[in-house]
Amino acid sequence: MLAAPGAGKGTQADRLAARYGIEHIASGEILRAEVAAATAVGEKAKDYLDRGDLVPDDLLLDIIAGRVLTAALAGGYVLDGFPRTLAQAEAAHRLAVELDGVTLQAVLHLEVGADELRSRLRARASREGRPDDTEATIEHRLEVFASQTEPLLEYYRSREILHTIDGERQPDEVTAEIVALLDSLGLGLGLG
Ligand code: AMP
Repeated sequence: MLAAPGAGKGTQADRLAARYGIEHIASGEILRAEVAAATAVGEKAKDYLDRGDLVPDDLLLDIIAGRVLTAALAGGYVLDGFPRTLAQAEAAHRLAVELDGVTLQAVLHLEVGADELRSRLRARASREGRPDDTEATIEHRLEVFASQTEPLLEYYRSREILHTIDGERQPDEVTAEIVALLDSLGLGLGLG
């Protein structure tokens, strides 16, 4: 799942993981858990999360690679929030080439306009109280997405695995479109 903060990656990834019986690997969730448990990784990541900056690429790769491999061997995964930079995408690709059985089959880009993203993130702030959902941090995270993550769209477009979905609709409609797309790609239930 490749989308801006607030676009619905977490919601859709949860549903896909449940539907296909595969692992939902959410880099932000993993990092927040590390921070909450005050692990060494959490200590290193905390300030980046609070500011809405991306944590360093090598730290992400350390915590994600093993999980992806385990999930791939167990039947598959939905990646939510990773990769988020070109360096991460290239490192992930190198790793997938090295590790037999790990493939990236489809990249789903949930497209949502900036105003809608802001209002969803504000609503989430009052619902969940995430420390990085403050006004200033929301703006910064949208800028970080535009400057560091948006270039991945072109990268995956050129690899011909990018699929853009209108993410401004109701969650159920978005899920239905994703499922129909995966079915049409032969990635749906029962087809592996
Ligand atoms: P998220 O829950 O996906 O919005 O991520 C929350 C925060 O975790 C981000 O603002 C970053 O600080 C950090 N983070 C999550 N995924 C990554 C990633 N792939 N690369 C760098 N930082 C990340």
